[in-house]
Amino acid sequence: MMENIDDLKSFLAMPREIVIVSHRNPDGDAIGSSLGLGLYLQRKRHNVKIIFPSEFPDVFNYLPESDYILIHDNEPDTCDVFLDKAEVIFCLDFNSLDRIDRLGVKINGKQAVKVMIDHHIDPEPFPDYMLSEVSASSTSELIYDFITMLGDEKMIDPIMGECLYTGIITDTGSFRFSTSAKLFRIVAKLKEIGVDDKKLQDYIFNSMPIKNMQLLGHCLNNRMEIIEEYGVGIIVLNKYDYKNFDIQRGDTEGIVNYLLMMKKIRLGVFISQQPNIIKLSMRSKGDLSVQQIARDHFKGGGHKNASGGSFHGSLKSAIEKFKEILPDYLNKIN
Ligand code: 5GP
Ligand code: MN
Repeated sequence: MMENIDDLKSFLAMPREIVIVSHRNPDGDAIGSSLGLGLYLQRKRHNVKIIFPSEFPDVFNYLPESDYILIHDNEPDTCDVFLDKAEVIFCLDFNSLDRIDRLGVKINGKQAVKVMIDHHIDPEPFPDYMLSEVSASSTSELIYDFITMLGDEKMIDPIMGECLYTGIITDTGSFRFSTSAKLFRIVAKLKEIGVDDKKLQDYIFNSMPIKNMQLLGHCLNNRMEIIEEYGVGIIVLNKYDYKNFDIQRGDTEGIVNYLLMMKKIRLGVFISQQPNIIKLSMRSKGDLSVQQIARDHFKGGGHKNASGGSFHGSLKSAIEKFKEILPDYLNKIN
């Protein structure tokens, strides 16, 4: 529930200058929730600009109006124009301004009304209005709720629905994680109004370039280590892999999930050597919280079963550190 939503509703009763921002390396939920909310606000006669810190994967180009999204890394000055005149800034699918680097610093200094809509653990209290539900499958699900709270559920049309549905299927891994009866009711409504979910599944999941399938093969054949006694799987990509496979943003998305497909694996980690940092992407089954591991050791966070973090140092020392801390979180399997 959002406190004081009536005040926000009154503020939005007249056309406003609005900026929507989401996190770095935007995923389907970041893009889907931003575009879904953006289309709704435009229909309410607001002026809306969506700004992302960095570019999003090409696979989401099918989404309506995705080509109007501004990328802060590429056009910081143009972004400033919109940030300067913004009366309201919506922050979607992230829980603290340091998740969006320089853009966060800029937003922190703005007078605009700030609204956070998010489903990550431990939100920072920077916004004036907050809809933060850790139990929600996705921020896109929360955008559906938000529009409903404003009394406008009937305004959600198939175009907005496609955006929200995209966020829901990507963040739930096609309804495998974080589902609820409420989510299925929302999804049923989206189908009822005509969202073509089969088409979306094809766009998102059956559109892999051959190169990415080969990269997946490389990860599983050459870069995977299984620590059976702890039920842990590790995939590591080094900077040469990035060069040899010409890996771009989004190309490694989802690889970590393959580890959890093995019955004996309860924790999977994908460790990648980025230009200035080592990134870790973790997934777990059941009660094991990778959010805790990410927060305690890798300056990160996220969700209980899906979190990420980073490490400053060599790739080798990142792997060593990860292995060292395992006994603190996991008992040996007999
Ligand atoms: P992924 O592993 O797919 O990159 O991210 C999984 C989840 O963890 C996402 O919800 C993402 O927002 C969060 N996450 C990934 N990296 C970081 C990080 O460095 N810091 C924090 N706080 N969260 C992260
Ligand atoms: Mn999300």
